[in-house]
Amino acid sequence: MHVPVNEPIITEDAKRYIAEAMESGWVSSGGPFIERFEQEFAKYLGVKHAVTTTSGTTALHLALVTLGIGPGDEVILPDFTMMACVFAVLYTGAKPVFVDVDPDIFTMDPEKIEEKITQKTKVIMPVHIYGHPVDMDPVIAIAERHDLWVMEDAAEAHGARYKGRLCGSIGDINAFSFYGNKIITTGEGGMVVTNDDALATHARTLRNLAHSPEKRFWHKELGFNYRMTNLQAALGCGQLAHIEEFIAKKEWMAAQYASQLHGVRGLRLPVTKEWATNVHWMYAVLVEDAFPLSRDAFREALLAHGIDTRDFFTSCSSQPATRKYCGEGGRYPVTERIADHGLYLPSGLALSQEQLDTVCHAIRAIAHVG
Ligand SMILES: *Cc1c(COP(=O)(O)O)cnc(C)c1O
Repeated sequence: MHVPVNEPIITEDAKRYIAEAMESGWVSSGGPFIERFEQEFAKYLGVKHAVTTTSGTTALHLALVTLGIGPGDEVILPDFTMMACVFAVLYTGAKPVFVDVDPDIFTMDPEKIEEKITQKTKVIMPVHIYGHPVDMDPVIAIAERHDLWVMEDAAEAHGARYKGRLCGSIGDINAFSFYGNKIITTGEGGMVVTNDDALATHARTLRNLAHSPEKRFWHKELGFNYRMTNLQAALGCGQLAHIEEFIAKKEWMAAQYASQLHGVRGLRLPVTKEWATNVHWMYAVLVEDAFPLSRDAFREALLAHGIDTRDFFTSCSSQPATRKYCGEGGRYPVTERIADHGLYLPSGLALSQEQLDTVCHAIRAIAHVG
């Protein structure tokens, strides 16, 4: 049996909405599903404004540009994240400044932020990793003390909660992705969300080539075409209607893995802090020294069973593309360790009980238990 690392669920209502959008002729970035998706997503999150974009990466970029971030500014972000976060900062001409992460939950370590703040720092970008929220209260306290913006990257955390609050609704302006493997998808797509009226208006203008709201074809600043299509938004509406089921599916998956893999020596299962609701976007494990195989050998052994997994991210600061702009970036020992030892198991919404059992049996066989 082949078990893919991720497979989405496309529901019947989503297919119907897309057909409706096709038949209406609104296939580009005009049309009713855009506004509907934005309104429904804002309502789901409990924020005032949601602005669709073409991807999570462009949502991050748009949010930074909306805040006026540019050359000479610094943005603090975790060393352990997807490079999209770093690229979004580099597109603006600002400098990414890295902090190491928490060894248990792999998210930005708030205790390491303050030592990185300079006169140039403008934004702290917490990234909720693999569905587990960042410890936001200390991040917000630091941002308030130093008068900085907080911009959450919630691309992996739709529906996750920090002390009851939904991830992506806490910072000043925040970004989501709807890439095919995210908790809800529009194929490709993203969203900028905020409670600030002026920031929302500015983001909408910048997204649409910075046409002046008062006069079309009049541009007072550098704009972007980051517009989502009505077809994508139709899929988004169909997905959002099922978000609670999707999250329940992830919870089921995590509970199954936890009970079936419990006690496998050297396999560290995900940790959830008592203040967090983890949506387990990906079921992320650490292959520790007590495990009979290295992480790389474990990945290959699973692949031989037809089971697809993914290694953790590699440290952002050590990537050639980062070094080209930022030079050598210091040491981040937690990131280095988890990048070498981490891997995530098949975690797609379409994962069946049979596939999950196959994965767990294979792991137990590889680890010589049960
Ligand atoms: C997926 C992801 C992104 C990028 O989103 P795209 O839609 O693929 O551009 C950014 N940040 C994180 C943490 C992600 O997981």
